[in-house]
Amino acid sequence: MTLSNANPGKDVGLDDLETKLKLSTSKSLKNHIVRVGGVEISQNSFVIMAGPNTVESEEMIIETALSVKKSGANILRGGAFKPLTFPYRSEKYFETGLAGLKWMKAASEESGLPTVSEVTSVNNLDEVASHVDMLQIGTRNMQNFDLLQACARTEKPILLKRGFGSSLRDWLGAAEYILNEGNDQLVMCERGVVAPHTHRSTSRFLLDLQVIPAFKELSHLPIITDPSHATFWANWVEPMALASIAAGSDGLMIEVHPDPRNAAVDPLQAMSFNEFQNLVEKSISVRLALTPKG
Ligand code: PEP
Ligand code: MN
Repeated sequence: MTLSNANPGKDVGLDDLETKLKLSTSKSLKNHIVRVGGVEISQNSFVIMAGPNTVESEEMIIETALSVKKSGANILRGGAFKPLTFPYRSEKYFETGLAGLKWMKAASEESGLPTVSEVTSVNNLDEVASHVDMLQIGTRNMQNFDLLQACARTEKPILLKRGFGSSLRDWLGAAEYILNEGNDQLVMCERGVVAPHTHRSTSRFLLDLQVIPAFKELSHLPIITDPSHATFWANWVEPMALASIAAGSDGLMIEVHPDPRNAAVDPLQAMSFNEFQNLVEKSISVRLALTPKG
């Protein structure tokens, strides 16, 4: 992309690289590695994070951890503190908080997979940080600057999801808050943006595939995609996951549930164990097809 200072405040400009975004756009830092447990994440590797939207019980998270590990996942995901759209809780719509974090830790010990879980507020930061290997900052909190700085100061690796209405410049600005605290263990995640005219009015978000090459022209940080939250429909997760790999994504975050249609949160987007296994096999094929021969 040709950088200029023509669109100040909207596009990443030439002078941003030296001033506002000097840490997040250090392209000279070749092969920057983020370490989560024993897993190395970089622009030269490929990571798969998988698991349920919500850690619903100890049995279900252990069962899911063992299954996704067998299929090839490297990191277990699962939300315990959730940014839920509605304030009401029921037997069918819930979060599990501290108990969920403890079950996540048990699943990590059983499976050997490191874990990532969302921090929704500085109020639950200590609890999340003491139970999982990587802190997730969700789309709704991408510009919660106090939270970004507090997470960074734990020195834990961080997964920073893109705000669903945020430009690349704003997303890099949020990354800069974390890097500026001295924490360079940062992975970025594209999870879909709001777009007024899409193929379907009920499609919640549009996976922004173009942001992957645009991001990689500027930044050394690894960037992964979450097609589960972007598409909201399980059947569309695989095609968008494969397309994002072709576009240069350094990894995937995929929702997987033992009984997807009965998931406590976001039941329409979760994959079954079998669907996930198929996706991992196809992902490996796409990666191979992209590897230069010789
Ligand atoms: C999630 O990963 O569980 C989640 C809530 O994601 P997002 O912040 O992208 O909506
Ligand atoms: Mn969700």
